[in-house]
Amino acid sequence: MALLRDQRTDPKKFRELLREISILMTYEATADLATEEVTLTTPMGQAEGHRLQERVGLIPILRAGLGMVEGVWSMMPNAEVWHIGLLRDERTLEPVEYYSRLPVSPTVDVCLVLDPMLATGGSATAAIDILKRWQAKRIKFVGIIAAVEGIKRLTNAHPDVPLYLAAVDDELNDIGYIVPGLGDAGDRLFGTG
Ligand code: URA
Repeated sequence: MALLRDQRTDPKKFRELLREISILMTYEATADLATEEVTLTTPMGQAEGHRLQERVGLIPILRAGLGMVEGVWSMMPNAEVWHIGLLRDERTLEPVEYYSRLPVSPTVDVCLVLDPMLATGGSATAAIDILKRWQAKRIKFVGIIAAVEGIKRLTNAHPDVPLYLAAVDDELNDIGYIVPGLGDAGDRLFGTG
């Protein structure tokens, strides 16, 4: 987390760190997913094992959420990935939907909404609104750094959605950035800062 936040960290290293931390977050976020027992054969005989029973959907919020997909996906390669594009109206700081191509009805049992920065909570709340209108059964939010304000807004709007976060910072500045945070996650990821 220290390296991820550090302004000297270049985009290549930033992507690697975001991927690694996302893998660790996946461990926490999926610990209660249902599994079923399977019997398999080792070179020495029969063994019992477990297989994930629930169908998982990864829902990265564009564009910074893309930086978390690779790590989470490496842990659950059969997950479906559905993208939601939300941008912030610079004047109101409220989210505006610009991309969402979900199929007519849910194709997964659990949705993991991915966004490294939970700042005002506007985008995460809007993404979860979209998933609920889609009638998603079970939704979890997986982020990296959150501001207290964003946590409050999201948990007020969606008290049924658990949050998995690596760090919580106290403040937001007047343009909705987390302080100290790490800056603009999308810019740092894609080298566009
Ligand atoms: N989005 C970011 O990328 N960083 C913030 O601090 C807030 C929103």
